[in-house]
Amino acid sequence: MCTEEKIKFPFKETSKGLLDFVKQSPTSFHAVRTASEMLEKEGFVRLAESSAWDLEPNGKYYVTRNGSSLIAFCIPGEQETAFRLFCSHTDSPSFKVKEGPQLSGTAGYTKLNVEQYGGALRAPWFDRPLSLAGRVLVQTENSIETRLVQIDRDLLMIPSVAIHMNREANEGMKYNVQTDLCPVFGDESAKESLCPLIAREIGVQEEAILSMDLFLYNRQRGTFIGANEEFLAAPRLDDLQCMYGSLIGFLNAPQHRAVSVYGAFDNEETGSESRQGAASTFLADVLTRINAARGGSQEDYFRAVAGSFLISGDNAHALHPNHPEKADPVNRPQMNQGVVIKFNANQKYTSDGRSASVLKLLCRHANVPYQVYTNRSDMAGGSTLGNISNTQVSLQAVDIGLPQLAMHSPYEMAGTKDTAYLIELTKEFYSCELEVTDEKMTVQPSEA
Ligand code: ZN
Repeated sequence: MCTEEKIKFPFKETSKGLLDFVKQSPTSFHAVRTASEMLEKEGFVRLAESSAWDLEPNGKYYVTRNGSSLIAFCIPGEQETAFRLFCSHTDSPSFKVKEGPQLSGTAGYTKLNVEQYGGALRAPWFDRPLSLAGRVLVQTENSIETRLVQIDRDLLMIPSVAIHMNREANEGMKYNVQTDLCPVFGDESAKESLCPLIAREIGVQEEAILSMDLFLYNRQRGTFIGANEEFLAAPRLDDLQCMYGSLIGFLNAPQHRAVSVYGAFDNEETGSESRQGAASTFLADVLTRINAARGGSQEDYFRAVAGSFLISGDNAHALHPNHPEKADPVNRPQMNQGVVIKFNANQKYTSDGRSASVLKLLCRHANVPYQVYTNRSDMAGGSTLGNISNTQVSLQAVDIGLPQLAMHSPYEMAGTKDTAYLIELTKEFYSCELEVTDEKMTVQPSEA
């Protein structure tokens, strides 16, 4: 078992960093902005997909698509062409405010008209302060500008029906999004207040607002729990814990080998099929352009891809304290016990014997504990972006995650130690000597 002395990132402080990252990132747009600011602080140069790319040896760059997916990369000095990638996702299940946003005339209340985004657990959204965050499209003369908005106060609530009016409430509930989940926004006087409120928040005239992509977010801040603060609870740990941990590892890798690529994609929770999701051409486009900007031929590109390696990071289910029967009899990860390698025979997860072997060696070299997740054989389980991105660019890949509970609730639970473990693993991944092709697999420890 690893000791904290071997892990350079202190567990508690690292988790505090994660909680701050989560607070600043209530939507995928905000997560990309937060990550962009961290990258720029470390000297990464922003590129536009619509401009020509002139990439320097030892250069550090990043590019976003739709403001909700991001790819950053470091060009090595030497003529190494293979790519080394870690990818996660920026989005989480929530409720999106519809284009016609307000429902009024219902018994003296004004409600917001919402639809579900992704596979949300609905019940925990009830009876807690909620607010709105997202992006607003604003007219400035003949151009349209994007502004991010996060209303930083308790604004909305979805009230339960009292037990006295529904005696079956504890027998299991079915929730209808249209009739049960639309949050209270105020009394009747609040009708027509949303647009003015948003306009005030971002400092524009109401008429200037053309459109909005607004989501509900949970107001409850992340916090530590447990007798020894061994756990933490926060919104959006799936998948901001992997997005944050891999970013810190990427930024702290002492020497980047190969072409190091850090990716965080939107729309994983809805199947990744969007212009900016993992099923889009975004990753393949960026890799192709990196190769071309370095003077590589198409032959060079194919060779680079054949020698590249992807870690797809998306959180995993920890063994549930009250429902251990939901887990596989053997492969049942626990929080604070390290990185989880995820397997599925039908390749919903990309891990196989080869790629898992590479990952295990990386963990050993980084002194990071690892564990294994598989579904119970009579349960379908989830899927993630590793195998989906492979439909656009075929990379040798392994699916991992950090163990957590309450996945897809607006308030999830994870281990205080595990983010630091992921950081150590990603640092090692980006800085070690790694050669993985169909013909050969070499994993040498980094010097750091
Ligand atoms: Zn996820």
